[in-house]
Amino acid sequence: MIIVMKPGAARADIERVVERVHKAGLQTHLSAGEDRTVIGVIGHNPYSVKDAFTHDASVADVIRITKPYKLSGREFRPRDTIVELPFGIRIGGGGVAVMAGPCSVENEAMLIETANAVRDAGGHILRGGAFKPRTSPYAFQGLGRAGLAHLARAREVTGLPVITEVMTPSEVECVSDAADVVQIGARNMQNFDLLREVGRQPKPVMLKRGLSSTIEEWLLSAEYILAQGNYNVLLCERGIRTFDTATRNTLDIAAVPLLRELTHLPIVVDPSHATGKWSLVAATARAAVAAGADAVMVEVHPRPDEALSDGPQSLTPANFAALVPQLAAVAEAVGRRLLPPVAAPATATAS
Ligand code: PEP
Ligand code: MN
Repeated sequence: MIIVMKPGAARADIERVVERVHKAGLQTHLSAGEDRTVIGVIGHNPYSVKDAFTHDASVADVIRITKPYKLSGREFRPRDTIVELPFGIRIGGGGVAVMAGPCSVENEAMLIETANAVRDAGGHILRGGAFKPRTSPYAFQGLGRAGLAHLARAREVTGLPVITEVMTPSEVECVSDAADVVQIGARNMQNFDLLREVGRQPKPVMLKRGLSSTIEEWLLSAEYILAQGNYNVLLCERGIRTFDTATRNTLDIAAVPLLRELTHLPIVVDPSHATGKWSLVAATARAAVAAGADAVMVEVHPRPDEALSDGPQSLTPANFAALVPQLAAVAEAVGRRLLPPVAAPATATAS
């Protein structure tokens, strides 16, 4: 349920309404728009206070939200959420951001080599997994905390903010300290303890769609994070399981405009995990931007044939450099624009 305050309602009016809701044992989440504040009422039975404001002159309306997800829906927050990252990077609100980097952080030298190539080609955010959710327990599991240190170094050298995955609640703190965006992988989309934990830390969270998840399940998972007070959530479509095994997954491109209707949260598309094949990545990345994605995330490796994970779907730096201007052209064709390139830090020396 949402309580829509009248335009120009005073702070004291809002506080009075909030207090009344809390007295009923319910939680509130405020969305302050340009002219009016919306109070989201969350709890087991929000309708217990539905008639509590019929005589309150500062309340414009009390509206039932029929969707099971509340805070992530457009009814609660009609305007697009813009997630602000360091170095002036904003995801959502019209610009298109490019995240790129290796599947796994393999060592510091390869990470910095890749990061420099990503930055020089116009990428905005460096990706790289330190904690890796591998299907096989015998596959490379990632460098863990050492990988986080390499990411911190790459960030310093290149001036790119970094995104990396966290797999367990006990590691949220160290990942949050190192990362600009904390990633929840597809396999953990419904790890509710983990979702609650990243909802309680301050960094934005990118929530990947589960391997076989419906849009509603996905938005309910986002809701776990928002309900803890972290509203900076990005949704990443990375392909889903279908009957067809010709590609690693099936990219649900319609999810992009559908999410745009249903939610205010920024939308990211990962064509690398969606296709599993590098030769399909450029076309699906262009499609993602054409469909309205706020960002794309692609895997880039300086020597894909030697990659410790996901080499077959990784672009070379040259392929990535060719893709960025294509994404810029598509963005422009649909009335958007690629974010400006990130400047190298003044102190950075060639590496
Ligand atoms: C990743 O982005 O590193 C990853 C493991 O992807 P997903 O969770 O989408 O499989
Ligand atoms: Mn990967």
